[in-house]
Amino acid sequence: MAALRTLETLHFDNTFARLPDAFYAKVTPTPLKNPFLVSVNPDAAVLLDLDPEEAKRPEFAGSFGGQYLLPGSEPLAMVYAGHQFGAYVSRLGDGRAILLGEVRNSRGEKWDLHLKGAGLTPFSRDDDGRAVLRSCIREYLCSEAMYGLGIPTTRALCVVGSEEEVLRDQVETGATLLRLAPSHVRFGHFEFFYWRRQFDHIKTLADYVIAQYYPNVPDLARGPDPYARFYHEVAVRTARLIAKWQAVGFAHGVMNSDNMSVLGMTLDYGPFGFLDDYDPSFICNHSDRHGRYAFRNQPDIGYFNLRCLAQALTPLVPDEAIKGGLDAYETVCAKHYAELMQAKLGLSDSWSADDVGDERLLRDLLELMRGSCADYTNVFRSLCDFQQAPKAKNEGLRDLFVDRDAFEAWAARYKERLHAEGSKDEMRAARMRRVNPKYVLRNYLAHAAIQMATEQKDFSEIECLCRLLRDPFAEQPEMVRYAAPPPDWGKRLIVSCSS
Ligand code: AMP
Ligand code: MG
Repeated sequence: MAALRTLETLHFDNTFARLPDAFYAKVTPTPLKNPFLVSVNPDAAVLLDLDPEEAKRPEFAGSFGGQYLLPGSEPLAMVYAGHQFGAYVSRLGDGRAILLGEVRNSRGEKWDLHLKGAGLTPFSRDDDGRAVLRSCIREYLCSEAMYGLGIPTTRALCVVGSEEEVLRDQVETGATLLRLAPSHVRFGHFEFFYWRRQFDHIKTLADYVIAQYYPNVPDLARGPDPYARFYHEVAVRTARLIAKWQAVGFAHGVMNSDNMSVLGMTLDYGPFGFLDDYDPSFICNHSDRHGRYAFRNQPDIGYFNLRCLAQALTPLVPDEAIKGGLDAYETVCAKHYAELMQAKLGLSDSWSADDVGDERLLRDLLELMRGSCADYTNVFRSLCDFQQAPKAKNEGLRDLFVDRDAFEAWAARYKERLHAEGSKDEMRAARMRRVNPKYVLRNYLAHAAIQMATEQKDFSEIECLCRLLRDPFAEQPEMVRYAAPPPDWGKRLIVSCSS
């Protein structure tokens, strides 16, 4: 591995800043008042070739609290548009985040340094350009938790707190989050130029994204129809991402097209939530009154957003190719979800889309869970210990359900299915424990860490959750209390877009 670098010697390679001026506004961060380090993620530092020890220097919190500009940084705010709650909003952009620049590491990877909460930009509309500590901690924890779960996501280097007062429903303190991603280009970037009829810019952006981020897709840049193939690839990546959200029980909360990454990664953590009780109509965003972004709607919303992107690409991509991309989205999303759920059930014989029996087995289990308000994560984790022996009662699992007779009837069918493929309890259990997490970032766990941080300036619970969620599939017996479903107070927590 190459020698680790200091803050001052990071290797910047700012490709986005080389695009025409129409793509961004050059701005500088507004310093936070008295910034201090809340948490740093050493794994993310290494992605930048940055020595994690650098976090001990006051310049670290200073740099990521907006006080100093790093040498090589060319800060800018990106402009984009997007469909928010189904309606087109013609000008959004990074209203409170500044792209400090792009760092290329010794492995050739390029990472955007995106500072959220960095102050006003031309795209702040009527807002203050700040983020509050509470929401920075939520994003910090969740992006790393998703990474631990193996789900494509932006990463997070650090959270910086401050004494800056920010008004939300009440007075809170401002903070910044340094987010990392190979790119922050969103569906909404293309929409912005489409609706302004700036078709040359659509092509410039598509060429840029293809050259920078899809160089390994066979022949994408060189072969015929690169834009059609690019659209197809985005559709497939989005399909796989959303299938993964559905399988793990993650609700994004604000699936506006401006929050959709062209790289198919989870982007912009706001009022997200993991399922506790299995409830397909779960709405995690208190501002989402009609449940547009309810858990079960996510695959359809992914399709809607891909249609928005398709429309923006019509100057470059023929209609049949758009239809092909949308069809691929539907097929891949359904197929990947089926594969993931098959693995969660521990079934290794292939499960084809027309395998009605397996689909029914899954559907009936989910229906039992819904009827019993059973905990989604815990049911699947308990299922790992399922015993196939005819007399085995599987009490631990059974007791998660209210209707025990119905569970027993289901368990008998499951046993039969396992038997049919010659499944061995121990081997299956080991396989299943690698796909059914024991720990997810439940809302009440994040809330407890946030309370300690905001009320007592005690950041130890953030560190504890980071350690825990780095390996959510491991048993971690001393941490078992973090696998518990929410206590009563933890079921009624309200999370909204206000952050
Ligand atoms: P979000 O809901 O975070 O995806 O943001 C939607 C749009 O509103 C984006 O253009 C954001 O940059 C902008 N925005 C959200 N919160 C703020 C804020 N506090 N100050 C300025 N702009 C904001
Ligand atoms: Mg956003």
